[in-house]
Amino acid sequence: MHRRQIIKGLAASSLMLGAGGISAPLWASGRHRADVIIIGAGLAGLTSARYLKAQGLKVLLLEARKRVGGRIQTINTHGIHAEVGGLQIGQGYGLMRTFAQQLDLPLVSLGQYAEQNTFVINGQRISADEWPTHPQNSLAASEKNTLPSRLYYQMLSKGPQYALPWDWTLEKYAPLDISLEAYFKQQNISPEALRLMDANINALSLKELSAADAFYRLSLARIGGRGAQKIKGGNSRFIQALADDLTEELHTAKIVTSISQSSDKVAVRCEDGSEYIGKRCIITSPFSALKDVEIKADISPQKRHAIQHAQYTSVTQVHFAVKKQADVSMVQATNLWTDNALGRVFSQVDDAGELRYLTSWINGRQAKALDRLSTSEAVNIVKNALEKHYPGLKGKTEVVHHQSWANERFSKGAYIQFAPGQVQTLVPHMASIEGKLHFAGEHTEFMYSGMESAIVSGQRAAQEVSERL
Ligand SMILES: Cc1cc2nc3c(=O)[nH]c(=O)nc-3n(C[C@H](O)[C@H](O)[C@H](O)COP(=O)(O)OP(=O)(O)OC[C@H]3O[C@@H](n4cnc5c(N)ncnc54)[C@H](O)[C@@H]3O)c2cc1C
Repeated sequence: MHRRQIIKGLAASSLMLGAGGISAPLWASGRHRADVIIIGAGLAGLTSARYLKAQGLKVLLLEARKRVGGRIQTINTHGIHAEVGGLQIGQGYGLMRTFAQQLDLPLVSLGQYAEQNTFVINGQRISADEWPTHPQNSLAASEKNTLPSRLYYQMLSKGPQYALPWDWTLEKYAPLDISLEAYFKQQNISPEALRLMDANINALSLKELSAADAFYRLSLARIGGRGAQKIKGGNSRFIQALADDLTEELHTAKIVTSISQSSDKVAVRCEDGSEYIGKRCIITSPFSALKDVEIKADISPQKRHAIQHAQYTSVTQVHFAVKKQADVSMVQATNLWTDNALGRVFSQVDDAGELRYLTSWINGRQAKALDRLSTSEAVNIVKNALEKHYPGLKGKTEVVHHQSWANERFSKGAYIQFAPGQVQTLVPHMASIEGKLHFAGEHTEFMYSGMESAIVSGQRAAQEVSERL
């Protein structure tokens, strides 16, 4: 057996972890030449790099930001590890959980990240018990008992179920590739239910989301089951552990601006003028950011169309540290679901059970509206809304972070979301190989969700490359 094949077998059987340090003949020498160039050091890019390095290939990992992790970022402040991006590691995340075990990173429960149990509707604070008969509940009679936070899943769960999540692109489901709003209107769902669902939808809006995509995500959630966890000490520890073995391969602050390919190589140019040459290239940047990169290569019109038109959701967050003297009775009612710019509020308590940290998490249209303002204007709106609904917190919070994923140059959104018509037209082209260009990232893998799909895609793209080198 050829030495590389043996190494390949070893790497695959050990899930490539701990196999670093294996050397093999390099395709070419020189700091700017590699067997494989990988663009983006998020979960997908880091996974690809580890896999290929373990096979003895020369890898160059180019990351635009000064930090690694992309849409995973933990803020460590006031004794709390707060996630700004990827948070929940589902029970079905087989590969991520295996990696965590091998990297010696224990998982812990999400703690106070519980379901919202108090609501602010039309400015009025309402408990879950009060909701069915509350004057602000103007849902249709058959909907009245459903909490605002549950309406979306309740309504979706009455709809069709795919036999398997990846059936969503089948021709027979094409009639579902319409807006979720249009679909719900066909089901006679009340205008007030539509309004409430839109207030915190995990998408741009009901109008901009394909119903086929919504049913796909529901089927993934059904498979995923309950009991999500996170990495003890924050999910960034997972990223750092992956990156620690890639010190030579990883180059941060490398903003890729153009990619070209010829019969024998791929050339990647960065904003600082540096150029890298590889035999093949794995592109993991979200299409929302890739849109800004000039691809001079001959790629299919369908792929170009997908890169240009892929939509990403807006998520904006404001993080607050709570000063010690805050009224402890607040803890009981801090997981709040609102129909206003405060979005949903999640609380975190310290080991003594004291309220320490609040995150206001705003989705969709409300996030889009805040994203048009300056950071200080957006933060003030959210802070004022927080203090209005929790008067006891006035003067007792400190804003520690503001995050607009849509305004981040190298993300331009939180997650991929397919618009009406796009499930049939874009999904089949997201992961297609284009000559020497391979594509990975959460937007290219449709058997898993979020972080797990990024990891699986990174492994898949690395395998595609290694089979062709
Ligand atoms: C708010 C939020 C909450 C989330 N919650 C969850 C959750 O609970 N559970 C879950 O499973 N998932 C969740 N996710 C999704 C999960 O975080 C992502 O699916 C995953 O991290 C994506 O990894 P990736 O490698 O595909 O992309 P990214 O992490 O985006 O990595 C791509 C990398 O490419 C880089 N890049 C972009 N453009 C260029 C360029 N021109 N040149 C060089 N580099 C470039 C970027 O800087 C980035 O580092 C959440 C995401 C967000 C934003």
